[in-house]
Amino acid sequence: MKVISKIQEMKQAVRELKSKGKTIGFVPTMGFLHEGHLSLVRECQKRVDTTVVSIFVNPTQFGPKEDFEAYPRDFERDAALLKKENVDILFYPSAEEMYPAGYKTYVEVHDLQDKLCGRSRPGHFRGVCTVVLKLFEIVSPDISFFGQKDAQQARLIQKMVEDINGHVKIEVSPTIREADGLALSSRNSYLNPKEREAALVLTKSLKEAKILIDQGVRKSDFILKRMKEIIEQEPLAKIDYVEIVELEELNPVEEVKEGTLIALAVFIGRTRLIDNMIVHLQS
Ligand code: AMP
Repeated sequence: MKVISKIQEMKQAVRELKSKGKTIGFVPTMGFLHEGHLSLVRECQKRVDTTVVSIFVNPTQFGPKEDFEAYPRDFERDAALLKKENVDILFYPSAEEMYPAGYKTYVEVHDLQDKLCGRSRPGHFRGVCTVVLKLFEIVSPDISFFGQKDAQQARLIQKMVEDINGHVKIEVSPTIREADGLALSSRNSYLNPKEREAALVLTKSLKEAKILIDQGVRKSDFILKRMKEIIEQEPLAKIDYVEIVELEELNPVEEVKEGTLIALAVFIGRTRLIDNMIVHLQS
């Protein structure tokens, strides 16, 4: 596995690969890798000749009061994991490399960026879209892989690529979970044992939604009420949002149907966790 930290070197490697007719797949991450990230890597490897993974804790997607400094980092461990997965190139730029002094350009996907997580994290998706578009320019992938766990992020990236007539194909892979259902997240490392237990309310509320839908319930209000009741029973949990929306514009819907997104963000102590589910109606 080649580790590249300079943009020009990464672009040169891409030029060489393309001149040999190789297809390139790309998995952008912020590191502190877990099985969720590795599942994207494995999906990518099935589809392309060369797999590039980036590790970059992107400062522009963190608000001033958020956890940029505290965000977990372990480059040595991450690099060893990716090497074991036979990743071809690990791109690991510094913040100065990505945002040199005088940097001025940002990408916004209007409306979509203000919904769900965007409401409590203003500027977050502007930072995400900016860094992802920059990475796409540097790595020039044929396909890029994102996790369903960050459903809104995946939707924004798809919309961004569509709107700018980008050439990269966006693939969204399923959420990987712990045995008890908690969605894997680098931020789970913030949780103490009591909080780890409490974090299960996210999964529990989604499971309840699924049970209700399987029983034939379609009214969003009813489902949301039951989900919120479950979360509110947990003293360590504080709801940021629980919403039922359509996947195009991320607008709330009165009734669930096939493909509807049920998404939530909940603070467990000081840690903000997200999860979601796409509705599949039993036929
Ligand atoms: P992050 O390092 O948190 O920015 O995530 C990098 C990529 O991994 C994003 O596309 C995430 O959606 C994806 N990802 C994070 N957690 C999971 C998970 N539990 N299952 C599947 N994909 C995930």
